[in-house]
Amino acid sequence: MTLPEHGMSKAEIVAALESARAGDVRWQEGRTFGMVYDAGPTAQAVAHAAAEMFLHDNALNTAAFPSLAKIQSDVVAATATLLHGPEGAAGFMTSGGTESILMSVKAARERARVERSVTAPNMVIPESAHAAFHKAGHYFGIEVRKVAVRADFRADVDAMANAVTADTVLVVGSAPQYPQGVIDPIPELAEVATSIGASFHTDACMGGFVLPFMEMLGHDVAPWDFRVDGVTTISADVHKLGYAPKGASVIMHRSKELRRHQTFVFDDWLGGFYASPNMQGTRPALPMATAWAVMHHLGVEGYKKLTRTSIETARRMVDGVRATEGLTVLGEPEAHLLAVTAAPGWESRLDVFALGDALQARGWFHDRQKPPDSLHATVSAGNAPVIEDYLADLAECVGVVTGVRKEDRSTNYATLE
Ligand SMILES: *Cc1c(COP(=O)(O)O)cnc(C)c1O
Repeated sequence: MTLPEHGMSKAEIVAALESARAGDVRWQEGRTFGMVYDAGPTAQAVAHAAAEMFLHDNALNTAAFPSLAKIQSDVVAATATLLHGPEGAAGFMTSGGTESILMSVKAARERARVERSVTAPNMVIPESAHAAFHKAGHYFGIEVRKVAVRADFRADVDAMANAVTADTVLVVGSAPQYPQGVIDPIPELAEVATSIGASFHTDACMGGFVLPFMEMLGHDVAPWDFRVDGVTTISADVHKLGYAPKGASVIMHRSKELRRHQTFVFDDWLGGFYASPNMQGTRPALPMATAWAVMHHLGVEGYKKLTRTSIETARRMVDGVRATEGLTVLGEPEAHLLAVTAAPGWESRLDVFALGDALQARGWFHDRQKPPDSLHATVSAGNAPVIEDYLADLAECVGVVTGVRKEDRSTNYATLE
């Protein structure tokens, strides 16, 4: 495939792209448990309007685009309120959860270098913590000390306490963690970090725009935000259950003082003064503007409504899975994430990866994960209208695949091609 000699028309382009999408998951129909989160046609129209306005703009230099400075500052301030950030809490928008995590790890490393002269840094994370922490360790030269979780999939505080050393720059917990959807014991973990002067990160990439609204709706939510002493940074993804288009997350620091360790400033280049909050140079305005637009369109009321729907749907799914002979869920999911697995005694007869294929043939998409073998679901409001159809198909598919073992045991959270 080479670049066409003569350019294609708009109609040809649209047709070609449409046909390229033929095999893509059908998230628009609520049949995908993850990756795209749909707040409905009105919120989509709002995002489209903002996207069209800001498609070409660049937040690299907010002196040229003061609108984008305001957009970032509004999104960060609104998120700080949701996370119960104290007076002076400060953050930035990033391109996603991974970049927020990268920045939190980098800030922790710099803080430990400045305050504690740590030169051979490590971080202590539960094995449930997102792969982005391993990526951060790889990028930034930080040893990752990975600690087994408890039988209920929550981080093991004693084991984490045993794993920290004088060179630990960061301890991590998640609210909720991605694989099984449980909330780690954040106060106890943050105390481990505080006891050695290290930073503590709550990964609320998933929970950041869910748990605050669950609390408002009267659910009991385990402590996880800045009300917990010792939490120094929190990541919260607007492009997940904030229902904004991709490319928008917030990394929040407890104070501006701590945020300093995140930024990069360089004033000795022929091109001029260079100050940068995150990994990017050129920063697309589209995700920032659409995040601002969707957040302000939904407001607290909108998010409460969407959260009520997602949590009701997730609980219906948990109950429905448990009521399906041969299946159960891992642990006790606390919010909108869950993992479907073979019930005790069914492991040898029911292969959930084969089940995943059978569901996929009917248009339902789950990520496969292990260990243990399970089908992951991030449930959001868009899945609500079809959840009973899903549960009916699930029961039928169990019937079809019982006794079938799939050769290929690979999992597929993220891919290279
Ligand atoms: C999605 C997710 C991330 C990574 O975020 P991206 O936006 O995919 O880069 C990190 N932590 C948790 C808990 C997540 O669910």
